[in-house]
Amino acid sequence: MSAKGITSHLVHFERRATPESGAVHTPIFNSVPYGYAKAQDLVDVFQGKQAGQAYARQSTPTTDVLQEHVTALEGGIGSLVFGSGMAAISAVFLTLLKSGDHIVASQYLFGNTSSVFATLQGFGIEVTQVDVTDANEVAAACRENTRMVFTETIANPGTQVADLKGIGQVCRERDLLYVVDGTMTSAVLLPPKEVGAHLVVNALSKYFGGHGAALGGTVTDTGLFNWESYPNIFPAYRTGESKGWGLLQIKKKGLRDMGGCISSEGAHQLMVGAETMALRLERQCANAQALAELLEAHPKVAKVYYPGLESHPQYRRTQELFSSAGAILSLELVDGLDCCEFLDNLDLVINATHLGDNRTLALPVALTIYYEMGAEARAAAGIADSMVRCSIGIEDTADLLADFTQALDKLA
Ligand SMILES: *Cc1c(COP(=O)(O)O)cnc(C)c1O
Repeated sequence: MSAKGITSHLVHFERRATPESGAVHTPIFNSVPYGYAKAQDLVDVFQGKQAGQAYARQSTPTTDVLQEHVTALEGGIGSLVFGSGMAAISAVFLTLLKSGDHIVASQYLFGNTSSVFATLQGFGIEVTQVDVTDANEVAAACRENTRMVFTETIANPGTQVADLKGIGQVCRERDLLYVVDGTMTSAVLLPPKEVGAHLVVNALSKYFGGHGAALGGTVTDTGLFNWESYPNIFPAYRTGESKGWGLLQIKKKGLRDMGGCISSEGAHQLMVGAETMALRLERQCANAQALAELLEAHPKVAKVYYPGLESHPQYRRTQELFSSAGAILSLELVDGLDCCEFLDNLDLVINATHLGDNRTLALPVALTIYYEMGAEARAAAGIADSMVRCSIGIEDTADLLADFTQALDKLA
């Protein structure tokens, strides 16, 4: 990022990336193929000797700008964009791991990411999930065949905060690839490069886009990893400066071969949304803090999970790592109260999955997004049967506080 403040950067990035016409938005290029007057130019593009487009499954001029946008925000050396966060995450695993490898991952993960691990195990990749709030647990789980450590920043729905710096240290000492899913906090609250992450994945569908209007995902290389030491880079991609090898392999094997690409229209929607990301997060985090404090003091609420509360086990770490404690909070009602009835009592808040949206969304997690996982895995991830997850939006603070208060008061 430039020396300017983050919102100045966000609102001016696109027009600077494509200055030709004066348009403040990058044009939406819908072309699938890209033609060249000279066959040699096409050959050079295919052989990586010349920059340029070939086919929209790998990139378009519009998606290129989104990539640059994310790279600048994360302070990385390059990024790839995908059609969803899960496309980006699964591409990282499937292109950089081989049968016989082992990875250490958080036991508090986005449910679909945990589900991908079951697929990986079927391919002969071993996964150990540990309590990432303690870097010693990560270190203890490492083996000779460990290639990668994967964690989120703040987990959902339990809001456990990983020991991101400690894990960075473990990965540095052992030369392990450190992959951080920064979706819950985004680069606005913490660019994971600051804690030593080598690859950063983000679901752009969430805070980056913010408006619930487009899906997207990304992988950013922070430039901190030495790819020459990584055994799984195919000979074809050990070409040019070694700093680029990892992303080149993820692009060719993941984006080109597996095909999880984003459309130019989707990329445009996400970039429009991103203009207000820092502003939105400021309001969302302030709303979440106010609401968490109100809920913690309410007699019908048994427990509030929010890392901006002093009662949260990683409160100090949260203050140290992030510019704000995020906008996801979870709660449990006191015994005997029905969480679905509570949700139905809410008026502004929508019963919906998704997070990072402008609108406040809430859902009973054990019955919905974590249902398939089963009771045992839910218990390991710290997910109570009656837990409600709330993704706090940008509504006026007083309206949100009033809505939660009336919904609780109405409960018998
Ligand atoms: C939503 C989410 C994803 C997946 O993103 P999609 O764009 O919905 O595929 C991955 N990780 C985290 C932490 C998420 O919240």
